[in-house]
Amino acid sequence: LPLPAPRRIKALAQDVVNKIAAGEIIVAPEHALKELIENAVDAGSTSLEVVVKDGGLKLLQITDNGHGIDAKDLAILCERFTTSKLKAFEDLSSIGTYGFRGEALASISHIAHLSVTTRTKESSCAWRAHYADGKLVSSKPGQSAEPKPIAGRGGTQITVEDLFYNVPSRRRAFRSASEEYAKILDMVARYAVHCAGVSFSCKKYGASTADISVPTAAGTLDRIRQIHKATVANELVTLHAENERWGFKCEGWISSANYSAKRTTLLLFINHRSVESTIIKKAVEQTYATFLPKSGRPFVYLSLDIEPARVDVNVHPTKREVHFLNEDEIIAVICDEIRNSLSKVDTSRSFMTQS
Ligand code: ADP
Ligand code: MG
Repeated sequence: LPLPAPRRIKALAQDVVNKIAAGEIIVAPEHALKELIENAVDAGSTSLEVVVKDGGLKLLQITDNGHGIDAKDLAILCERFTTSKLKAFEDLSSIGTYGFRGEALASISHIAHLSVTTRTKESSCAWRAHYADGKLVSSKPGQSAEPKPIAGRGGTQITVEDLFYNVPSRRRAFRSASEEYAKILDMVARYAVHCAGVSFSCKKYGASTADISVPTAAGTLDRIRQIHKATVANELVTLHAENERWGFKCEGWISSANYSAKRTTLLLFINHRSVESTIIKKAVEQTYATFLPKSGRPFVYLSLDIEPARVDVNVHPTKREVHFLNEDEIIAVICDEIRNSLSKVDTSRSFMTQS
């Protein structure tokens, strides 16, 4: 049989490409929220309020009191690769903030209705703008797409509505709003523990009480106590590890041998970004295994500062796992410190009961 003639290769339409790319970066509402929280924190905010409807699929709104966005920048705010955080490729290795390299808001604008209200210190009013597919659009037919001056406080409010409205397959993949809301709460809780000096609240749209609420002044242990309850907080000890050769520093709160849960809670931050690391989780669980009952698992909050040049910041944003140089050595130092601290607490207890 003769082979069939090859079909000609054609480029997908740009809007299809944009939607595919955005849907890979923002897989679930929690991913959009994570980016918005990081932006608010990067803007120097000390207060951050989150409101959620239908697990974030209907509404995701975040209000901060940070430095705001210059009205002159609103036109390009949601274009792909527009950022105020790095200018040259070399900066990729030295920036303190990293993440989506100007892709977050662009992505969201391709798969949701996005609006922004913002006011800088210098501005005499706030500005509101609406976006679709990376560009300014009007909020009502027949009106101009230009940002409009309105009354408002300093800071930024980002409103994301109808996430995945134009990606029906993705939209159908969500089974329950409460499952998505739980993931959102988990994400807010992580940043609420980590970001000392910033107040956080998170509630459902229309609810009178917040599900997470942490005041600005709360220290890290208080934050953990409010979110994870006293049963966890009462059993925590501090952790400190650092090593010049491997270029890192680590601070944290870890549960003692008196605490044990069904599942590990690992709040892991690397250079102030919440990240996942299977190998850190495994190593931590192994370290605890000799101190806890057979099926017992720890609570561990770790904040790692690694010289930015050693962290692979350029991994594709769809990869939630982060990697860095000398991973094994750094993990070994941290686990040694955990082991030290667990055995210290142990001996002081037995010493106390003996005397
Ligand atoms: P990136 O954070 O990688 O720069 P984003 O798409 O998340 O990319 O944001 C683009 C730009 O929009 C940021 O660099 C920042 O200047 C501005 N921005 C976004 N959110 C806020 C905010 N809440 N407050 C102030 N500026 C913001
Ligand atoms: Mg960002």
